[in-house]
Order: sequence, then structure tokens, then C-alpha cells
Amino acid sequence: MVLRVRCGRSHHVASVYDTGAGRVVATQTGTRAHGSRDFVDVAHHGTRAPDYVDLLEADTFSEDLLPAGCECGNMSLSREELRRSIESEQRVLQVP
Ligand SMILES: [Zn+2]
Repeated sequence: MVLRVRCGRSHHVASVYDTGAGRVVATQTGTRAHGSRDFVDVAHHGTRAPDYVDLLEADTFSEDLLPAGCECGNMSLSREELRRSIESEQRVLQVP
């Protein structure tokens, strides 16, 4: 994993992985049933099937914004912002 995205309340929002095919961003979308327990679940089990997976490098037809969300609600992540964070060797990106 090259970058972890979390919200201001430390919920997991998205992860960016380096794969053979390029950088891939995996996000959770929508709100989830177990609310505040999710952070603990992720920490203990490590894997949760993401709702949305896409290449970080956008092609001409891709929009800059990716769908994402956490218990706080839905949000959009900017590919450009994710790329900038990775290039500056930031490991965690906190979004409002
Ligand atoms: Zn949140």
C-alpha cells in the first residue's frame, strides 16, 4: 500500500496500492451498518472487499473525482490530490 486515505474522524476511506498494472485506488462507498466498529475491524482483519476499484492514473475519458465514503457520508476523492500526496511521499492523506 502506498497511500491510505482517512477522514477527519479516522475512518478508513480509501487505499492506493502499487501493482504491476500501475497504481490502483480502492475506495469504500456509502455508509455501512456497523458504524464506528469498522475501524477496529479493518485493523484486526486487514482486508475488506472494496466497493470501487480503479486505476489511479486517469486516461482522457476518466473523471478526476472518484466516489468514496465512510460513516460520515459520501465524498469524492481527487486523483490529482492522491497523486500529489504519493509524489510527496506522504503515507496518509486526511480528508475533511
Ligand atoms: Zn468518517
